Amino acid sequence: MNRADAIATVRAEIARACRDAGRDPATVTLVAVSKTFGPDAIEPVIAAGQRVFGENRVQEAKAKWPQLIARYDGLKLHLIGPLQSNKARDAVALFDAIHSIDRESSAAALAKEIARQGRNPLLFAEINTGAEMQKAGVRPQDADDFIAACRDRYGLTISGLMCIPPLHDAPAPHFALIAQIARRNGLRLLSMGMTADFQTAIAFGATHVRVGTAIFGTRTSSP
Ligand SMILES: *Cc1c(COP(=O)(O)O)cnc(C)c1O
Repeated sequence: MNRADAIATVRAEIARACRDAGRDPATVTLVAVSKTFGPDAIEPVIAAGQRVFGENRVQEAKAKWPQLIARYDGLKLHLIGPLQSNKARDAVALFDAIHSIDRESSAAALAKEIARQGRNPLLFAEINTGAEMQKAGVRPQDADDFIAACRDRYGLTISGLMCIPPLHDAPAPHFALIAQIARRNGLRLLSMGMTADFQTAIAFGATHVRVGTAIFGTRTSSP
């Protein structure tokens, strides 16, 4: 399947999942995850009408997106991978949304750059719903305090939560957990669901689904 057909299929599946959940498809943003793929793979997806893309590395995004952004109108870039404090300047300059805030040091660095650059990216806190040792994200039991600290200490408005469920778990309980944390903190956005589980995520209220493989095919280089 070529990439234009692939993204049409993903959009149709999103529409179907919304219909099943009694949701308006306009409430779900498809973030096309283009990490590891170059402009030759990305341009047909732009030509098919996609405007929102996700990257997990600031350096990689900085190398490939500025030329595309100059060439096509309306592109929006979302950072879905780890954010180091020393990359906050580049991240704020390039990205329209950051899904991966999980520590106060990066919240502080982001706040400083947002003020300095006068940009206003959409911000998500990443929650480590599976409490996995090796994984990024705020522990669920620390989420309320973290969201409050972002607001009260750094003046950052966190608009939503993001999670990546453990590989071998059923994803639904993880989606339900961040939906519950978001609700009690008055957050309206939920970044959850990837190629394997975006339909389930939509049933649990996802507003942003991050889909790579179903659009671009299998990645040959990691991550
Ligand atoms: C790579 C990645 C995705 C996309 O995963 P697929 O299974 O290829 O759809 C989504 N979210 C994050 C954080 C990623 O790093």
